[in-house]
Amino acid sequence: MPHAFASTLRSFKTASGKQGKFYSLPELAKTYPDIARLPMSIRIVLESVLRNCDGKKVLPEHVIELAGWKAKAPRLDEVPFVVSRVVLQDFTGVPLLADLAAMRNVAAEMGKDAKTIEPLVPVDLVVDHSIMIDYFGTKKALDLNMKLEFTRNLERYQFMKWGMQAFDTFGVVPPGFGIVHQVNLEYLARGVHKTAAARGEAPVYYPDSLVGTDSHTTMINGIGVVGWGVGGIEAEAAMLGQPVYFLMPDVVGFEFTGRLREGVTATDLVLAVTEILRKAKVVGKFVEFFGEGTGGLSVPDRATMANMAPEYGATMGFFPVDDKTIEYFEGTGRTQSEIEFFQAYFKAQGLYGIPRAGQIEYTSIVSLDLGSVTPNLAGPKRPQDRIELGNVKKQFTSLFSKTPAESGFNLPAGHLLTRHLVRAHDVRSQEADAKVPHTPAVQPGAPRFVEEMAGNKQTLAAALYEAEPVQPAAGDMTVGNGDVLIAAITSCTNTSNPSVLLAAGLLAKKAVEAGLKVKPHIKTSLAPGSRIVTEYLTKAGLLPYLEKLGFNVAAYGCTTCIGNAGDLTPELNDAITKNDLVCAAVLSGNRNFEARIHPNLKANFLASPPLVVAYALCGTVLRDLMTEPVGRGKGGKDIYLGDIWPTSDEIAALMKYAMNGKAFKANYDKVASEPGPLWEKIKGVTGQVYSWPDSTYIARPPFFDGFEMQPHAAEMGVKGARAMALFGDSITTDHISPAGAIKEASPAGQWLKDNGVVKADFNSYGSRRGNHDVMMRGTFANVRIKNLMIPADANGSREEGGVTLFQPKGGNGAAGAGTEKMFIYDAAMKYMAEGTPTIVFGGEEYGTGSSRDWAAKGTQLLGIKAVVAKSFERIHRSNLVGMGVLPLQFKPGDSWESLGIKGDETFDVEIIADLRPQQDATLVIHSADGSSRSVPLTLRIDTAIEVDYYRHGGILPFVLRQLLAA
Ligand code: SF4
Repeated sequence: MPHAFASTLRSFKTASGKQGKFYSLPELAKTYPDIARLPMSIRIVLESVLRNCDGKKVLPEHVIELAGWKAKAPRLDEVPFVVSRVVLQDFTGVPLLADLAAMRNVAAEMGKDAKTIEPLVPVDLVVDHSIMIDYFGTKKALDLNMKLEFTRNLERYQFMKWGMQAFDTFGVVPPGFGIVHQVNLEYLARGVHKTAAARGEAPVYYPDSLVGTDSHTTMINGIGVVGWGVGGIEAEAAMLGQPVYFLMPDVVGFEFTGRLREGVTATDLVLAVTEILRKAKVVGKFVEFFGEGTGGLSVPDRATMANMAPEYGATMGFFPVDDKTIEYFEGTGRTQSEIEFFQAYFKAQGLYGIPRAGQIEYTSIVSLDLGSVTPNLAGPKRPQDRIELGNVKKQFTSLFSKTPAESGFNLPAGHLLTRHLVRAHDVRSQEADAKVPHTPAVQPGAPRFVEEMAGNKQTLAAALYEAEPVQPAAGDMTVGNGDVLIAAITSCTNTSNPSVLLAAGLLAKKAVEAGLKVKPHIKTSLAPGSRIVTEYLTKAGLLPYLEKLGFNVAAYGCTTCIGNAGDLTPELNDAITKNDLVCAAVLSGNRNFEARIHPNLKANFLASPPLVVAYALCGTVLRDLMTEPVGRGKGGKDIYLGDIWPTSDEIAALMKYAMNGKAFKANYDKVASEPGPLWEKIKGVTGQVYSWPDSTYIARPPFFDGFEMQPHAAEMGVKGARAMALFGDSITTDHISPAGAIKEASPAGQWLKDNGVVKADFNSYGSRRGNHDVMMRGTFANVRIKNLMIPADANGSREEGGVTLFQPKGGNGAAGAGTEKMFIYDAAMKYMAEGTPTIVFGGEEYGTGSSRDWAAKGTQLLGIKAVVAKSFERIHRSNLVGMGVLPLQFKPGDSWESLGIKGDETFDVEIIADLRPQQDATLVIHSADGSSRSVPLTLRIDTAIEVDYYRHGGILPFVLRQLLAA
């Protein structure tokens, strides 16, 4: 069948005269002139829809609809977006590989060729989520942590090696190279792709685009790549040739004007942008940056901004391609030919350069004068809660005694400054005291925000020791509220940005020279997102100073950011839990939800890498770094932040070490040539079909059990359901399916013990996502989740942990006869055994946080048929549909609280059989007193393709049926 827009296929030439073909948007614009004013991101999606218009999955109407995108219009049309490639990280990649392997089992069992199941686009898995900070503050930390990582994850890595040999387009970047998004930015993204061309023909070029199984996939938007995070189940569909479907989006234009002030970092900027965009309500929308200020931002700064799209709620935060992008490609070792085609292609498409105000029609516009941004942190519980640096102490003090409803810690104000004795436990090696070599002197001068500090500087004694009633004996230490116990330079958000890492190194240098030290019990770590960071910090002469303060390289991976901070000492854990202390972590990450960083650290602050070092030196968030000293240096002198904060000239002078194309190329060539002895030693199962050797890490997933080519008639709605849980607002995917530590007493811990795994080898939930037995037991097992069905204590506090009140069949009343409190997993098994379906009720932003398909998979495996909430996070909602679980939304003004739902009722969800996207549904509530009432809901099956997924019992059976039928 001829291409419906064949006339748009044109040629372009590179600077050196090489030729390529492309589906030309300027040519299409001759028929649809509005294209010239469409947002750049929409035009890149349009190119994909145009090129892939095959009359089957992508229809000519799809091209016409998108070409006619209007800035303000009801969003009813679905866009079928065929992406160029898929990226995975290991926590989400392993379950995806397990699903693919299980599909091959089904194909083989049905007498088909197992190779029917094969990714159709390149897939790269970067192993970055598994390493933990067990060792820190020593030069051996990296080596020791990697050895432990390989011991713990051997079975998973063997499975990946099977995948590498079984699938033609599946590549793995082994552990120890870096964090997926940074590796993607520095290496995997190549600018443009090309088709295989017939002899003598020029290939067709097309822009890079992707989906990734990690929410922060959006970092790649910093170099003009359209892409975002999806759940593993959607990624599987994408790699098996399905378009990614999404509703035509609003595009919010974000205009930057001016320049950042002296001393203000990209981290400060991104926290300000996050706060602004959260308020602008950009959930489900594209954000596109434009304007003169945008053009002045470096690619690493843009990538930092793009990375935090999940935190501001947007589908992506897009920066168009311009000269700065080309400079970045040159500085990171892309080949001359790649760069030439990349630049020529974008110019030919009219997509080169940052648009100026007025050039593009946006749905709405927000703007920010870069010069108004001040140094800040975000926390202590959510990334969008920005606090100016000078208000951190005040904010922590105020939240300490506020109620949970006010995001407080609900503790008596009088306890704030009480300190508790702890036996010191120094696990740091003597090597941390290694000699620091000489490096060039730094420039004098303090940044402006530091100059602005009030003149009323307090002395350290007044600031630190005024309220310390307990005097420690020799060898002991004290711990109190606000103490910083983890200080981690981590996370792709910042470690991909040389300016903030050089700033951290410079601050460390000045601090060491001033005689400041970090207390040994503070868990300090440096976990770069690529080895390049170590290389430039070393060449700049700064690594030894970071090491002197305990910030030795401990891993190349996500570490603290994903909850792999490793444990604190038993003594510290004991002191915190016994005394109900609110201690802190300060990390240069992007996520700080409850219990994500460490189960016992309730206050978690996101900050720039130099501020992470500053807070490690200071040791408490109860000191105002704008007016009080960071610490006491040589000769007992008080040292202020302004004394050690680096200037932008000092940072700029060292940037030459960070952008060295040869170094990037040499580093990433090693992915193939020198993947590391630990990785090389691993041998996996071979063959096209996986044999599922016994493992507590990898098991054949049950999603295709009883698979048949014809779907069973999908049951419409739910009848006679019980409430499994009543949750408040902002239940994250981490609450639903935690990634971190597995508690011994939890159902998952018990199962592991019953299967011969000792506690020391439990590893994390994230690492066990290839085993459904662990994961379904871990669903709703976050230690901080609060099921509001459980009555409050006398002081108004709520029990934390994944428990529910099981309502026996025929029983009534939350506290009625036979009602029993138990783990949600145990209740789910009892409900399923008696054939009772269940429903979860939530508040606003249900499923916010990381893209985590196990949050939906676990929900399905617990027999939960529907989730009814006030609103849903984008990825989790689609994952629920993808697993055949109904997402339903209360009408505005309604909530389970306003409807008086207590958890002792039974429920029906009524849906008309002619299922249509976003239609009305009815919740029938049968109360314990025998009365019933009906409440309208909106069915959040949003698109026509999702109706098909639901009818097929989910996206995976849908795709498998298509592949096997082909
Ligand atoms: S866990 Fe943190 S560091 Fe890792 S990819 Fe996600 S955001 Fe980046």
